[in-house]
Amino acid sequence: MVVLSGKELSSSVKQQVASSAVKFEKRFSRRPCLAVVLVGEDPASQTYVRNKRKACDEVGILHLDFTFTADITQEQLMMCISELNANPLVDGILVQLPLPGHINKLAVTEAISPQKDVDGFHPQNMGKLLLGRKCLLPCTPKGIMKLLDYYDIDVRGKNVCVMGRSNIVGKPLSALLMQDGRDATVTVCNSKTADDSLFTRSADIVISAVGNPGTLKADMVSEGVVVIDVGINRVPDSSKKSGYSLKGDADYDSLCQVASAITPVPGGVGPMTIAMLMENTLIAACWREGIEPEDLG
Ligand code: NAP
Repeated sequence: MVVLSGKELSSSVKQQVASSAVKFEKRFSRRPCLAVVLVGEDPASQTYVRNKRKACDEVGILHLDFTFTADITQEQLMMCISELNANPLVDGILVQLPLPGHINKLAVTEAISPQKDVDGFHPQNMGKLLLGRKCLLPCTPKGIMKLLDYYDIDVRGKNVCVMGRSNIVGKPLSALLMQDGRDATVTVCNSKTADDSLFTRSADIVISAVGNPGTLKADMVSEGVVVIDVGINRVPDSSKKSGYSLKGDADYDSLCQVASAITPVPGGVGPMTIAMLMENTLIAACWREGIEPEDLG
């Protein structure tokens, strides 16, 4: 059984980004720059943003931080995004989700310039993804594909079951898996799927992006399955100083007995998402300067 370590791969991706960022700065006399926008005091969002800023520091990407209280108005937030779109030094704009209920998330996502949309959530980037055209790809699906490639897990001709159809994980991931050249046969389950196990059992690869611990159990899969666990769930744990521990969607211990490969939580998909954000910021910076990252040498 192989543990698919996103921790290991993400650190090599970040090293690559760091070396490209140095070359970028030499050539353009500026560092790639990510604007990180956080609204409200959601503890999980604060942690994600802290980790993203830390990753920027590690790879030499400049970050500009914008932190707003939860009562910010839609107009104020849109104004901030419009200024960041116009700022020539900003290559990427990340608005940490979720946003407070009174903010129109769709309008915010669409307000970000597609060229600076390093999360890959803008309809223009999503549309291009679906068409198989060059674009900024959403970080988590892109990170999962990179992880599969790194461990030589070819999806061609395989049955892949994706549990979850969110706009940020399930939908774009299923589009990437079925693209020409990738050629997976993809089934996507949702909360109304009568019996997930009908599909997970016939899958060579099961990817769970549900957000509920224990959703995927050993009796739902076949021997030799590859399990990618996207879920990050905070489960109360009195033995931890924080009072919680992080669990995936998959029942890791029981699945280890049947799977041929599995991602741990933490240390699997999560670090890949952040590494892809760094890579996307570098790509966005290069494209804005009219070059490809490979042109940096
Ligand atoms: P989400 O927007 O809440 O979507 C969850 C999806 O799961 C929905 O499409 C839902 O169906 C579906 N679902 C619920 N119960 C199901 C079931 N029993 N079988 C199949 N599908 C079911 O969540 P998300 O943003 O995609 O995130 C999912 C999980 O991944 C969360 O734990 C999140 O924290 C984690 N995540 C991790 C990373 C990372 O970097 N590792 C990145 C993003 C998200 P309906 O559409 O019918 O409601």
